[in-house]
Amino acid sequence: MTTANAFATAQATTPLAPMRIRRRDPGPTDIEMDILFCGVCHSDIHQARNEWRNTVYPCVPGHEIVGRVTRVGSAVTAFRSGDLSAVGCMVDSCHTCTSCRAGLEQYCLSFPTFTYNSADRHLGGQTYGGYSSSIVVDQAFVLRVPAGLDLAATAPLLCAGITTYSPLRHWHVGPAHKVGIVGLGGLGHMGVKFARAFGAQVVLFTTSPRKIADGLRLGAHEVVVSSDAAAMEKHRASFDFILDAVSADHDINAFLSLLKLDGTLTLVGAPEHPMPVASFNLILPRRHLAGSAIGGIAETQEMLDFCALHNIVSDIELIPIQRINEAWERMLKQDVRYRFVIDMASLRP
Ligand code: NAP
Ligand code: ZN
Repeated sequence: MTTANAFATAQATTPLAPMRIRRRDPGPTDIEMDILFCGVCHSDIHQARNEWRNTVYPCVPGHEIVGRVTRVGSAVTAFRSGDLSAVGCMVDSCHTCTSCRAGLEQYCLSFPTFTYNSADRHLGGQTYGGYSSSIVVDQAFVLRVPAGLDLAATAPLLCAGITTYSPLRHWHVGPAHKVGIVGLGGLGHMGVKFARAFGAQVVLFTTSPRKIADGLRLGAHEVVVSSDAAAMEKHRASFDFILDAVSADHDINAFLSLLKLDGTLTLVGAPEHPMPVASFNLILPRRHLAGSAIGGIAETQEMLDFCALHNIVSDIELIPIQRINEAWERMLKQDVRYRFVIDMASLRP
């Protein structure tokens, strides 16, 4: 057993503060890594503040991890000490159910072990995430970091990247499609980049007029401020696919009405409260409302390799961990351009 430096919340209402946590020694199939960078996902805030009503404290968030391997178990062949490595939202699953066998570990029928706030099958208690100096993960859940990518800007790909890549791929978004991305935050800005890279006609919907220029720079063909009723009306019943990446309660009916016949609105945002849906917004003209969770391990590797090939990374603000509480407050004010990433050097002595 080793220990690591971490930042944790002791309860829903307290800020993150330093804490020492335990990490297991690597078993035969495990990889131990020093964490170099960890992205800051809005899920970290939802979870740490118990907005999904299932948080176990203390809570060490963080699931956008890029690290360097320090030790490997006796049966590990794909990684060696010194290699770059990455971990996303999951660290284990049952490996045997139909979902796992289909490479959809995120939909494991026994529920995946998430990187934080899941039952820790090795040490007991709950798993602790990437706001920490090191982590130990089974090799089946460790990703390879392709050469040539900026490491800090790669970290957000492990959640924001795959969570937008996977649904755009699943719904076959391509050149024939008009695609909307709702919310220009960590997920949304990756959604814009991927939808553009896949050849779609991309419209970004934002509540923040100050983000219009960035939306265009990131790859949107058009940016619509969603409070502008006339601009919204112009797009009525015209979209093939809309990806909703909003972290707070909002009116999804306004976006459902923008879908054309058989169009799909997929929620990846996970706000605290249920959102009402007007039936007739789905009935006419036969619209679909869907959801999507992160992506499987093989697809996450595919996404990282796609990013290396197409030179796609996240736009980040690099911070020392001592500024994490301030970063969270800024995210809650929709003020992040467009992902905070923690430089874990700030957590080492
Ligand atoms: P984020 O960086 O904080 O971005 C969220 C964006 O939502 C904001 O930048 C803002 O965009 C928009 N927004 C915020 N409050 C709003 C409001 N009251 N009304 C309308 N729009 C608002 O968050 P994130 O890290 O991208 O995460 C987004 C959501 O996805 C979170 O709920 C997170 O938990 C969830 N998530 C889901 C999965 C999954 O597997 N499905 C994975 C990761 C994260 P504008 O300023 O452009 O309006
Ligand atoms: Zn996340």
